[in-house]
Amino acid sequence: MIEVKKISKKFKDLEVLKDVSLEVSKGEIISIIGPSGSGKSTLLRCLNKLEDIQSGTIKIEGELLNRNNCKKLGMVFQGFNLFPHKTVLENIIEAPIIVKKMSKDKAIKLADDLLKKVGLLDKKDSYPSQLSGGQKQRIAIARALAMNPHIMLFDEPTSALDPELVGDVLSVIKELAKEHMTMLVVTHQMQFAKEVSDRVIFMDQGKIIEDGSPTEIFENPSHDRLRQFLSSII
Ligand code: ATP
Ligand code: MG
Repeated sequence: MIEVKKISKKFKDLEVLKDVSLEVSKGEIISIIGPSGSGKSTLLRCLNKLEDIQSGTIKIEGELLNRNNCKKLGMVFQGFNLFPHKTVLENIIEAPIIVKKMSKDKAIKLADDLLKKVGLLDKKDSYPSQLSGGQKQRIAIARALAMNPHIMLFDEPTSALDPELVGDVLSVIKELAKEHMTMLVVTHQMQFAKEVSDRVIFMDQGKIIEDGSPTEIFENPSHDRLRQFLSSII
């Protein structure tokens, strides 16, 4: 589904991803953990072409990543990037209508279904400023899903939320996991990573240091750096 081979990403002289390789199979749910500045966000941003890479290759469903197939990846960021001057419904239908040339009626029907899925149909005509952080994030997820992505990328989707709002957002992601959506989730929620992921990847200083099952990563880490990281956050 995703094949990353020896990619390097530099910002001027700073090499932020160093020879990173990674394969993701269809339906796999992968959590990415690691200290601040280790390159987690940059890796996701390279996967959906928000950043160009300096060397290596990224393939999506067997094809080199390009301007078209990068649309197969949906992304949800830490800060909810909703359009503030548009209603919830308008936020969701815009891309399907403009990018996918979907009819307005069809896009509204789709938006209704997605709003039901994230439990916010009643907020359809609200503006983002009238929503809680958790609600905004669930709308951001619905908006990404409206483009029918084959893969979803989440970059710390709950870290800007008050603790009591985290659960609702995580349950939407868990729901997608049950439907076998392929997902890469950068997270600081170790409990979530343990419960939901098929695999956990630990990054440090621009490299993937460990890649294994939640049991291997959390109960039997083989690198000191991972052990230190885990003890620092629990
Ligand atoms: P965090 O957990 O804090 O979100 P991260 O693992 O997501 O960290 P990245 O945001 O990928 O880390 O950043 C990796 C490195 O790249 C950092 O040293 C950061 O300062 C640098 N970096 C990221 N974006 C840019 C940019 N646009 N220009 C220059 N340097 C950047
Ligand atoms: Mg980050």
